[in-house]
Amino acid sequence: MKIGVLALQGAFAEHQTVLESLGVEVVQVRLPQHLAGLNGLIIPGGESTTIGKLADAFDLTQPLRLFGREHAIWGTCAGAIYLSQNVGRAQPLLGLMDITIERNAFGRQVDSFEVDLSVPCLLNIDPEDKPFHAVFIRAPLIESVGKGVEVLASLDDGRIVAAQQGHLLATSFHPELTGDDRFHRYFMEMAK
Ligand code: GLN
Repeated sequence: MKIGVLALQGAFAEHQTVLESLGVEVVQVRLPQHLAGLNGLIIPGGESTTIGKLADAFDLTQPLRLFGREHAIWGTCAGAIYLSQNVGRAQPLLGLMDITIERNAFGRQVDSFEVDLSVPCLLNIDPEDKPFHAVFIRAPLIESVGKGVEVLASLDDGRIVAAQQGHLLATSFHPELTGDDRFHRYFMEMAK
């Protein structure tokens, strides 16, 4: 199993650490040729406009779109924004996932928070039914999802924070920061 982490900006090293602890071979993706032979790709959190502009600058945007047609991609936070089709403003997007995003939906950096989420799909990974401790850092919300998209987790008030469309996964929080590797294992199953 070989998984790439888009390593242009943001929390890619943290994803790499979790993947390597699970025995996955990790490739830092900075150029189109780095996508060759990967089973899947993680787009980390960070700053979505910066990630999109850097991807354009390194001629990665179109190769990423092609890769995402047939391979698993997981976007966390800024990565989820970049994966989406619509953020209600002009910025470079991959436009692969039929979700609409509201950036910075919870306010500023100081309004970052942590919460225990119920994520039923993780029961396939670990049958022990424990909540997933989720860290939201100037996080986006998944405002709405298209027909082929499954909601994986919501806040108590119903706002969507994790969704899946076939081989594409989006989480508005940061599973690479909490020492719980269930989402990474879930993604490995998707990438198989
Ligand atoms: N606020 C960032 C953005 O809009 C996302 C923050 C994050 O990835 N933790 O791109």
